[in-house]
Amino acid sequence: TDLSHIRNFSIVAHIDHGKSTLADRLIQMTDTVAERDMKEQMLDAMDIERERGITIKANTVRIDYTAVDGEQYVLNLIDTPGHVDFAYEVSRSMRAVEGSLLVVDSTQGVEAQTLANVYQAIDANHEIVPVLNKIDLPATDCDRVAEQIEDVIGIDASDAIRVSAKTGVGIRETLEAIIHRLPAPTGDRDAPLKAMLVDSWYDAYLGVVVLVRIMDGVLKKGDRVRMMQNGSVHHVDRIGVFRPAMTVVDQLGPGEIGFLTASIKQVRDTKVGDTITHEKRGTDKPLPGFKPSVPVVFCGLFPVDNAEFEDLRDAIEKLALNDASFSYEMETSAALGFGFRCGFLGLLHLEVIRDRIEREYDIDLITTAPSVIYHIYGRDGEVTELHNPADMPDPSTIDHIEEPRIKATILVPDDFLGDVLKLCQDRRGIQMDLTYAGSRAMVVYDLPLNEVVFDFYDRLKSVTKGYASFDYQLLGYRTDNLVKMQVLVNDEPVDALSTMVHRDRAEQRGRAMCEKLKDLIPRHMFKIPIQAAIGGKVIARETLAALRKDVTAKCYGGDVTRKKKLLEKQKAGKKKMRQFGKVEIPQQAFISALKMD
Ligand code: GDP
Ligand code: MG
Repeated sequence: TDLSHIRNFSIVAHIDHGKSTLADRLIQMTDTVAERDMKEQMLDAMDIERERGITIKANTVRIDYTAVDGEQYVLNLIDTPGHVDFAYEVSRSMRAVEGSLLVVDSTQGVEAQTLANVYQAIDANHEIVPVLNKIDLPATDCDRVAEQIEDVIGIDASDAIRVSAKTGVGIRETLEAIIHRLPAPTGDRDAPLKAMLVDSWYDAYLGVVVLVRIMDGVLKKGDRVRMMQNGSVHHVDRIGVFRPAMTVVDQLGPGEIGFLTASIKQVRDTKVGDTITHEKRGTDKPLPGFKPSVPVVFCGLFPVDNAEFEDLRDAIEKLALNDASFSYEMETSAALGFGFRCGFLGLLHLEVIRDRIEREYDIDLITTAPSVIYHIYGRDGEVTELHNPADMPDPSTIDHIEEPRIKATILVPDDFLGDVLKLCQDRRGIQMDLTYAGSRAMVVYDLPLNEVVFDFYDRLKSVTKGYASFDYQLLGYRTDNLVKMQVLVNDEPVDALSTMVHRDRAEQRGRAMCEKLKDLIPRHMFKIPIQAAIGGKVIARETLAALRKDVTAKCYGGDVTRKKKLLEKQKAGKKKMRQFGKVEIPQQAFISALKMD
């Protein structure tokens, strides 16, 4: 295809504003997929994505479109991941295309996550076409939302397209806008091959599949190509495009988006943002902007049932095959036995992996408190990275500790502003900016990542009844007065409950945690002290009273099947308990105890 008849674009939208539905309509209107093969949400492949309404892997589809003027076009749509944890992946997808459709729900307006992705599109020099969706709904208010797009984002929304992805209104106009308002790609067929690695995933039949955007040169089946990051050379055994089913083609030229396979065994060997060139007569200038993806949030994953450790290893290895940004190493905990210390790009990433292990592999897990990476400056001048509070060195050897800070952007209706400010203030936030757009406020805070990783999203959602949206980026490291707080149950330290906290908040956190644990740990036949301590010093304490003997009395008598049922329930419940010395702690206690407020 000649370059002037190619258009590459992405769709930027906040979750639920209609990105997938619009993509479906574009695919349907251009007859890319036979009517009988059409199913809802063509681009959202994984179950978990469908359930949560989020896309994690970039998906792509090639659409043939005959324009109103009779010309034939090839449109490539890359559907980018929609979450903050995947900002780098999003930035690479954006570099692979020339334009974006900005889809905004015309009954709702602009949200924080939309902003983050729009800025990525602007950074990538995209032409941006605003699309106001859901105009079939009575609450639609296109003028207000168009004005908001101009106010908040600062792009012209006067010729925004008004669409109902549901009924199909405005889909033709959207396709025409793509070809008339978005630029064609540029590239040199005769230059050495430069292909950007946009994404990769493991396919059980094909091995690793690599999604590429050709910048210069031509990629053909049988070529020997080099990954410029690590110099590895591969024999390309298949190239093709997504329609959206994988369809083999002979070659991919400049401006085109497609896939290659080359008997690559591990996703880890294919780094997002890498440049692929030919082994011979290749380029020596990789594309700019490559960054290795590094985990920022760590936590321990332990099987509730120790016998499932090997199953857990198996599950983690399989998941890591398809996810190069997820790291793991074995960990042993005095309290929890064998497990893994895992690193994630962010909280959502952590949740997705944990859910998949529990659901797809059917393993009950204990997740320890998520931790960020602290920089520990020793008195001897050494700097170490602390991934796990349990590994904290003796405080007397430490000069100072630095923690990661983020810049958080929150969009919230006026009514809830006070609650949001209070939440950020409680989490040691420093206000950076506060502006208004219509009846909504945009608040920017400098916050410790540590205060955000556990339950900030949940709290934000609950104090704003779900009306706030949130996005963040890392700012850097800063020194603060940080200490490790331990929890002792019946005088035994429970390492899985150790956390790093700010010294000024330690008493408050310690008290809250002891109170929670008191409610979460069932009574035993003896009194159980629950304590929080820093170093050797106890800063908070609760006592769980002993069980009175006669409570068990009601188990006697009554009918036998009911008793049996109760016993079975008890047994099932027991499996979700862990023994600490003489005390049994339910799995739920680990998660609940760490929630703040
Ligand atoms: P995504 O998260 O941005 O991919 O959003 P989806 O495409 O999954 O859409 C979210 C919800 O909005 C779904 O229930 C859709 O059926 C609905 N939806 C999408 N577009 C429209 C529209 O134009 N009108 C109406 N009424 N509902 C829509
Ligand atoms: Mg979707």
